[in-house]
Amino acid sequence: MYRDTWAEINLKQIRANLTIIRQTLPAQVKLMAVVKANGYGHGDVESARSAELAGADYLAVAYLEEAIHLRTEGIILPILILTPIKPDDVQLAIAFDLMLTVTSAAWFKAMRAFKAEASCSKLKVHVKMDTGLGRIGIKTKEEWDEIVPWLRAADMVVDGFYTHFATAGKEETAFLDQQADRFKTMMAWSERSSIRINHFHCAGSAAALRFPHLALDMVRIGAAMYGFYPQKLISHLRLEPALSLHSRLIQVKRLMKGEFLGYDNLYQAEADEWIGTIPIGYADGWSQRMQQTEVLIEGKRAPIVGKICMDQLMVRLPEYCEEGAKVTLIGKQGDEEITFSELAAHIGSVPQEISTSLTARVTREYTGKKEAEARWGKEILSYRSNNVLM
Ligand SMILES: *Cc1c(COP(=O)(O)O)cnc(C)c1O
Repeated sequence: MYRDTWAEINLKQIRANLTIIRQTLPAQVKLMAVVKANGYGHGDVESARSAELAGADYLAVAYLEEAIHLRTEGIILPILILTPIKPDDVQLAIAFDLMLTVTSAAWFKAMRAFKAEASCSKLKVHVKMDTGLGRIGIKTKEEWDEIVPWLRAADMVVDGFYTHFATAGKEETAFLDQQADRFKTMMAWSERSSIRINHFHCAGSAAALRFPHLALDMVRIGAAMYGFYPQKLISHLRLEPALSLHSRLIQVKRLMKGEFLGYDNLYQAEADEWIGTIPIGYADGWSQRMQQTEVLIEGKRAPIVGKICMDQLMVRLPEYCEEGAKVTLIGKQGDEEITFSELAAHIGSVPQEISTSLTARVTREYTGKKEAEARWGKEILSYRSNNVLM
């Protein structure tokens, strides 16, 4: 690391969060840890290993390349890909032992050009139902009936049947109840088709933590394992974010009353002020939507002033500070704290938009990584030597 801007990621905290979540669930409910988008910005492999250590049963990612990356790094848990892959990539999914989300008969039809039913390899799928989110999934009984013969094929393993909620993080539950009812109706379709289905699942973090009766056979935990959850609605738990973000002042200068600062002269000093420059900008994921937020220096809040640039931003210091002073953009300094929730509220989004926006240019520094590596090192080596593709 040649630049003083880094994200600290405490893997012990991710494990602690998962352990707490695990304890709230009935023992037979499986836990699928969602590590898509580079583990919500926390590192995909590091998050996956932490989940493995904390007793997760499954992993999930959004895309095929994310799953392949986990496999090539030696992750051996079952992995579900949450977005349908291209039918022509089906052999790749089989070779890496990945489970696919399926949403249409047309997909199966196209996939058959790339995998003969008589071939000895099995394809594991989870059928995705659209109960009201409107994103992906089977919506009608007709679509379900159309997909059933494809699911009955001899080389098919239907490991799951699932849906996703639109409003699990909202206080009002009428729409969620409606989706849950719709899912029950759809589960009845599947039972009448007498297809063997291993797991029914519908709950992401918020639904799993708020409504234990929605845990079914498995829950898909993303946000909460990283410490992101609607605290007001889930006050019986205490999860903590695992990521904090830091930098250092690279220049401290005087700005005199009336002088301008930054691109487009956005800011003009109202008095003689101390200004500090910090080496982080929108190319690191600290976008111009963070205008008018604050950072911590020497335990005090300092507002961002002037436009956030690509590589740097400026803050108004409460008093003179030494160059090199530590700056905290997310996390604690003394009694002060800048939280993900505060920043997310400012940009009108959720904490995971902030953590996933941190680009590869921001170095990730881990604590609690050695434990995971020590425990899994041997398994990884043996997995690699047993897998022809590695
Ligand atoms: C991302 C995702 C999840 C995880 O949701 P969280 O709210 O982060 O726990 C679960 N299921 C699906 C289908 C997803 O896309």
